[in-house]
Amino acid sequence: MSHYFIMAENGEQATKKRRIGSKFVMTFLILCLISTFSFPSLMKDEVVNSEVANKQKKEIELPQTSSNSINEKVVYLTFDDGPTIATDDILDMLQEHQANATFFMLSPQMEERPDLVKRIVEDGHAVGLHAVTHDINHFYQSQQTALAEMNQTQEVLKKITGIESTLIRTPYGSVPYLTDPFRKVLKEAGYELWDWNIDSRDWELPEGKYVENVVSSMESMEKDSVTPLVVLLHDQAKTAKYLPQLLTYLTTNGYQMKKFDASVAPMQFKCYDRCYRLDIP
Ligand SMILES: [Zn+2]
Repeated sequence: MSHYFIMAENGEQATKKRRIGSKFVMTFLILCLISTFSFPSLMKDEVVNSEVANKQKKEIELPQTSSNSINEKVVYLTFDDGPTIATDDILDMLQEHQANATFFMLSPQMEERPDLVKRIVEDGHAVGLHAVTHDINHFYQSQQTALAEMNQTQEVLKKITGIESTLIRTPYGSVPYLTDPFRKVLKEAGYELWDWNIDSRDWELPEGKYVENVVSSMESMEKDSVTPLVVLLHDQAKTAKYLPQLLTYLTTNGYQMKKFDASVAPMQFKCYDRCYRLDIP
């Protein structure tokens, strides 16, 4: 009996085990079926979601890329020492080529031709302060004389146009005479110093040779990915005469001609050990 019992027990246990086993297999198969249908869709969702995320990421990144101006060719044309009898012609040409520029002006010139100062502003160009005397010995005599010349030029600009400018360019550029104490005083007064990295040499080169000079400088700087490109020109008749050649080159080569604004960090010469005080008794 005990043996039968054992057998019976064993038989029941075996049946139980088979039932448990088959339940387990069934559960396993159901799980497999569920996983076959559900996991691929989950995985697909993940792929889709990651694609959406990537797309969104790209969409977010794209404006940053374009605002970084990687594919944008920009040049900043600057005209010093005006306004003069050439200003009207220069403004007409800029208008024709949908170009903007920045004019660093002298206060006596502004007082002589206030209507041109007004037109420069009305045409949408940037205005900056250059000096009163343009005389090295006076302007760079001390920090106070430099600041006084800029403040006086500012007053004249405000009187004529009603606006003020923080943009300044010191006579002949900041190197070699604008030493650190000068820079500090001008900066504390709120002025932003702008030099250039392409000297057109329009005041010395004969018969429009300055255009070739600017073009070759731009080409070599473009190869080295230099930005921003800031061209020094002068508000004078001999520059105006050949300006259409330069503007046509820039337009046909896809350059946008812009004026300085707050989005561009000022371009300044580095002093290194080249800056020194004038030896004025
Ligand atoms: Zn000048």
